Amino acid sequence: MRQKWIIDEVEEVFKELDKHLGETAQVSGLKCPDFCGICCRKTDIEASPIEFMPLAAWLYQTGKVNDFLAKLDHPEHDFCGCFNPGASDKGEWGCQYYEHRGLICRLFGFGFRLNRNSLPVLVTCKIMKQTHAEAVAKAGEMAAVNPDEMPIFSNYFMRLLAIDPDLAVPQMPINQAIRVAIEKLYFYYLDKEEIRDSQ
Ligand code: SF4
Ligand code: SF4
Repeated sequence: MRQKWIIDEVEEVFKELDKHLGETAQVSGLKCPDFCGICCRKTDIEASPIEFMPLAAWLYQTGKVNDFLAKLDHPEHDFCGCFNPGASDKGEWGCQYYEHRGLICRLFGFGFRLNRNSLPVLVTCKIMKQTHAEAVAKAGEMAAVNPDEMPIFSNYFMRLLAIDPDLAVPQMPINQAIRVAIEKLYFYYLDKEEIRDSQ
């Protein structure tokens, strides 16, 4: 099934990206302060549906999709529907689906863009610059020495584009991107349910 292939391919890209980001973070020392999540509270995050195909699949597989959609239909806040603003008070991460988060979520704070000379430049946040200034500087040095080794946004975007351009090109508010991913998998999981029910 094409949908299953897309989910598997995106998960494979994320697996490689996580390894790449982990190595970069380990050498540079880049690290988010525990339970920060300030970037998740931004109300203008844009993403593409393909980034959330693994999350959508997981929501169907675990029977949580209707509750999630109800949350999107009746939001308690105007940022990402995966974020629990009360979590950090309880010593938990704010993202309720961290393992299944999108490309933008994985790269934000740790990803690089190419400047006009095609050299990678770290795109990070104010918090990281304030709390890990040395690591930010170290990441810049790493990029100057090994530009091809850095986790670069456009490289990973191209990987997703190659999987399915129709799902990778459109950029939209993050909650809409998640909703489109859920809709794209509706018939795939409906078929599976019907097959299961008829057995
Ligand atoms: S990327 Fe920045 S804002 Fe987001 S959690 Fe990390 S430190 Fe906080
Ligand atoms: S999916 Fe998770 S990591 Fe991404 S913006 Fe939403 S809460 Fe944050």
